[in-house]
Amino acid sequence: MNTTDHPEVVLPPTVLPTRHGDLALPCFLPDATRATVRAIDSTDLRTVGIDGIVVNTFHLMRTPGTRLVKLAGGIHRFMGWDGPVVSDSGGFQVYSLIRQNPAAGVIRPHEVIFKEPTTGEKVVLSPDRCIQAQLQLGSDVLFCLDDCTDAGDLDTEQVLSVERTIRWASRCKQTFDKLVIPRAARRSAPLPDKEKETPVRPLLFAVVQGGGSATLRAECARALAQIGFDGFGYGGWPLTPEGALRTDMLSAVAEALPPGTPLHALGIGRPDHVVRAHALGYTIFDCTLPTRDARHGRLYRYRPGFPATRPRPDDDFFDTHYILDQKHANDFGPIDEGCDCPTCSRYSRAYLRHLFKVEDASAWRLATLHNLRFYARLLNALRIPHAA
Ligand SMILES: [Zn+2]
Repeated sequence: MNTTDHPEVVLPPTVLPTRHGDLALPCFLPDATRATVRAIDSTDLRTVGIDGIVVNTFHLMRTPGTRLVKLAGGIHRFMGWDGPVVSDSGGFQVYSLIRQNPAAGVIRPHEVIFKEPTTGEKVVLSPDRCIQAQLQLGSDVLFCLDDCTDAGDLDTEQVLSVERTIRWASRCKQTFDKLVIPRAARRSAPLPDKEKETPVRPLLFAVVQGGGSATLRAECARALAQIGFDGFGYGGWPLTPEGALRTDMLSAVAEALPPGTPLHALGIGRPDHVVRAHALGYTIFDCTLPTRDARHGRLYRYRPGFPATRPRPDDDFFDTHYILDQKHANDFGPIDEGCDCPTCSRYSRAYLRHLFKVEDASAWRLATLHNLRFYARLLNALRIPHAA
């Protein structure tokens, strides 16, 4: 779309240039939490049209250790994956584990210490350590360590969380600049360009907190923008207790940030939530949902007309099937007639159901390939502008 006639309109970016290629936006990045998208490999990811993945720094610090990944030549070589890799800081996961079991660790003003339940070994997550670990991984987009709260926490807790998130982000930026920028400068290479050039350094994103307060969310976003980052993530729990997307909070954050900034809706991944958040300006999504659902035999299917028609926020554009239901036992058609994934191209529902029944490992793989292809097709559809 040409915006020159409307200079006040700044559209969300359509591409995020990284050291391992351009990510076309919007994009869905499956969670390869422990350096694997469970049940499939890097070749499979490419086959179904996945362009990038998200790994988890905290979990990789635990196993196999970020030093080992560095020894292997970095996360790309370790996994045999040549596309963009985003590393989540792991703040959300470590906080969840400590909240579930306070004996599992301690949260201090400058760091989080997690104790391995079986060995007692400590994993220290501080702003410095978090950036160092992500640089050892060699990821293309790094995330600052943030202070996650629970949706039900008191306002006073949310204020403290925002203060700590800003302080930690500032520290992460200092560490990142110290370790990364001089290296790029020494090579006399240009820093990443907002235009098309391939960046020579990784990108650094910060996470916006603020719980259920639009004011706090906006304050946090503005303070982080002041420090200066390549992009921002929406942090914390994104759903209401009833399971609806917190569009009010998502809007507050998007509106407080400079127009055209890459926005990552962290952990947001239900297909209708992706469409809704995209309409608010978010362009990067990740979630364990499609791959976890696949392993439980829950498969996604488009309703007639989609995704050839680009789904809008209120469209009822998909449904799900539980492959173990009896009705699929003698159904010899594919999961989705319109799907071009390797599973639908070759196998019937009856056969996939049989593989689940006999608990063959290929059942997880075939179901995962289909669900990820469903997402790749959805994001392709969202890249096409609506007809006027
Ligand atoms: Zn399929």
